[in-house]
Amino acid sequence: MIAVPPYKQILKEDGTVVWDMESYQWLLNGEDFESIHPSLQRQAVLNMAYGLYEVVPDRIYQVRGYDLANISFIKGDRGWIVFDPLTAKETARAALDFINDQLGERPVTAVVISHSHADHFGGIRGVVDEADVSRGKVPVIAPVGFMDHAVSENVYAGNAMNRRLFYQYGVLLSRSPFGHVDQSIGKNTAAGTTGLIPPSRIISKPIEKITIDGIEMECQNTPGTEAPAEMNTWFPQFKTFWAAENITGTIHNIYTLRGALIRDPLE
Ligand SMILES: [Zn+2]
Repeated sequence: MIAVPPYKQILKEDGTVVWDMESYQWLLNGEDFESIHPSLQRQAVLNMAYGLYEVVPDRIYQVRGYDLANISFIKGDRGWIVFDPLTAKETARAALDFINDQLGERPVTAVVISHSHADHFGGIRGVVDEADVSRGKVPVIAPVGFMDHAVSENVYAGNAMNRRLFYQYGVLLSRSPFGHVDQSIGKNTAAGTTGLIPPSRIISKPIEKITIDGIEMECQNTPGTEAPAEMNTWFPQFKTFWAAENITGTIHNIYTLRGALIRDPLE
């Protein structure tokens, strides 16, 4: 970790709290809570990681603890390539502002979306202007099938799945040892403004090599895995592999209570 933000809350323009790490600080008192499963408590403490991390020196960074997922920044020749811009525009914008504050302001030169779950693309409007995408200035890159599945999960079945998500994670309960503790893959889902910009470039072959802003990437489609449309990325220049959400610090649900498509464990 190279920097901790001076704030613990992220707000909407109208002042509503979208993200609140302050509300989980009780997890850091070193206490064992009898009301929390020990594995969940351990995971909940690990998920208190909050700030800017350097993953590959001077090249790959992550802002962690700003939303359910992590947002990654690859330093290209001209600017940042943003991987997976979180759930909400407010948290994604706060992460971009924070890395720019810490490491110097750089433009966003591309956005890569790993898969069709909203916690990995919903904040895209916080890091890129739709007009820049439509005029071809900033490419938005996603795996084959991304739009179909993003829309079917979040629009057609969106209301039903969202309500089930509230029950699955207890997100409306108070944050306490007797209420909401963690979501295991991250603390919670940001309660901000979710959006979608259609990708301008779809990775359609099983493996596709692209170079964006001086960064070579080998994208590998992995349909029908953690999400129905998902891809991994290999960075040969840094010998670094990004497995999107195909590898997590938890065991994947095969069938989620919120009703995501069945994940085939044999794929
Ligand atoms: Zn996912």
